[in-house]
Amino acid sequence: MDKKIVTELSKVVGKEYISTKKDVLIAYSTSASMSYENVIPDAVVRPGTTEEVSRVLKIANKYKIPVTPRCGGSSLQGEVIPHSNSLVIELMRLEDIVLYKDLRSVTVGAGVTFGKLDKYLNKHDLWIPFYPGSALAATLAGNVAVNGAGFGSGVYGCIAELVMGLEVVLPDGTIIQTGSEANPNSPGPFLRYAFGPDLTGLFIGSLGSFGIITKVSIKTHKRMRHIDYNTYGFNEVEKAERFLLKLKENDINAVWVALYEGRVLEFFLEMVGEEYGVPQHDWPTFTVSVAIGHVRKDQLQSDMKMAGSICEQLGGYVIGVKELPKAEWEDRMRELARSSYVHGWHWRILYHHQPPISWHKSMDAIWSVMDEYGVLGHTAGFLSGHGSYNWYPQIYFDPQDKNEEERVKEAHRELARRLFKTGAVPFKLAEYWKDAIEGMDDYMAFLKLIKKTIDPNNIMNPGVLGGI
Ligand SMILES: Cc1cc2nc3c(=O)[nH]c(=O)nc-3n(C[C@H](O)[C@H](O)[C@H](O)COP(=O)(O)OP(=O)(O)OC[C@H]3O[C@@H](n4cnc5c(N)ncnc54)[C@H](O)[C@@H]3O)c2cc1C
Repeated sequence: MDKKIVTELSKVVGKEYISTKKDVLIAYSTSASMSYENVIPDAVVRPGTTEEVSRVLKIANKYKIPVTPRCGGSSLQGEVIPHSNSLVIELMRLEDIVLYKDLRSVTVGAGVTFGKLDKYLNKHDLWIPFYPGSALAATLAGNVAVNGAGFGSGVYGCIAELVMGLEVVLPDGTIIQTGSEANPNSPGPFLRYAFGPDLTGLFIGSLGSFGIITKVSIKTHKRMRHIDYNTYGFNEVEKAERFLLKLKENDINAVWVALYEGRVLEFFLEMVGEEYGVPQHDWPTFTVSVAIGHVRKDQLQSDMKMAGSICEQLGGYVIGVKELPKAEWEDRMRELARSSYVHGWHWRILYHHQPPISWHKSMDAIWSVMDEYGVLGHTAGFLSGHGSYNWYPQIYFDPQDKNEEERVKEAHRELARRLFKTGAVPFKLAEYWKDAIEGMDDYMAFLKLIKKTIDPNNIMNPGVLGGI
């Protein structure tokens, strides 16, 4: 990067918050993704206020420098890996938390992680009923940018459903506020759908392609202190899937619901079951692992009873091993996602959603791809809202074996194609989906038009959003 530009940037953020040193840049060349090439950017800036973000973007736009917004760097699909000759804008210095107790919301700076916010809200007997497995590193802004799902999604949906408004800096440096806070006289975030169309939604899942989210306003809920767990067994997939649907239809407050094929569950538990205190068990063909949470104990007892009756009415049985959902809920899934890290495998992940009644379609797709391509993998997921189930299949490779890596990349592309044909949808339009999507030309053209309008110089994370 031209020295003149570095000087301009350092005048905005101060010399200590910009670097062009290679050893520093290496840290920004990568992410938690296990199968994407690192790319070293030209520089990293760490602005400390929204105004600084705005001034930095004005400079990047003037010189047409590609920009990668970065928060926790914990994303898994390569979306935060920078471009060559680019600028990384790291937002972790935006750390403010402002609670609006009577509005049932909180506003956080882009650098606030879920872990930090949870600790803060706990003191007020509140929480955001949503927690990704990466919560200690992941920020709310980063999760909004990918429209993630997590613990609590079983009742509350993807993070999009909880967002009340955003402060965003557009590529030309304009600062906008969405939701009720767009009114400068507003007492704070109390309504998302204010002032016409849902502009908040435009930035959710935009992968940093439309602008930089500097603040997230989000709903708070009274903290659930009553949580109970159980596991439910089924011999036929249709019955297990129907169980997921019935839990929702009956308004059971199942904050965590995961359906496992017996052999996949055994695979996980062989690796980490002992560590998490899950007793040995002869697992049925399909197991549903459930955590039900409530603010009041009587509500919890009623829901637990109802979940057992629904299971039995469908011809299933209550397994009674509570340690599995308890470990999943309390340890936030790290144990299962971690199994691949534990073994030093690298992998490609393919986040997507299916309706619960089509759960088997994803399962069939991943098994068929693994068999045909001769690759190993696993898949897991959880109920993610009103009518959806969030899946995250991973296909492994040995990083030393380049042939295997290439085979896994091709298997991954093929899996996306097959999943699309089953009716599955991505919640983040990662770049590789562009080869899988068919019959959506008008939609993609409209998305391109929006991108071009907001970001005519195409500086914001170019190519990441479905190849746009
Ligand atoms: C062990 C493990 C478990 C995980 N479990 C979950 C899970 O349960 N649920 C889930 O959803 N994800 C999960 N993830 C993936 C990841 O943690 C999430 O996607 C996370 O929310 C990303 O947030 P981040 O702050 O790390 O964002 P980053 O990785 O920094 O960025 C993610 C994307 O958002 C863009 N971006 C970042 N900040 C901004 C901003 N301020 N404005 C605009 N764009 C921005 C980036 O350019 C990039 O495209 C997991 C990851 C790991 C490693």
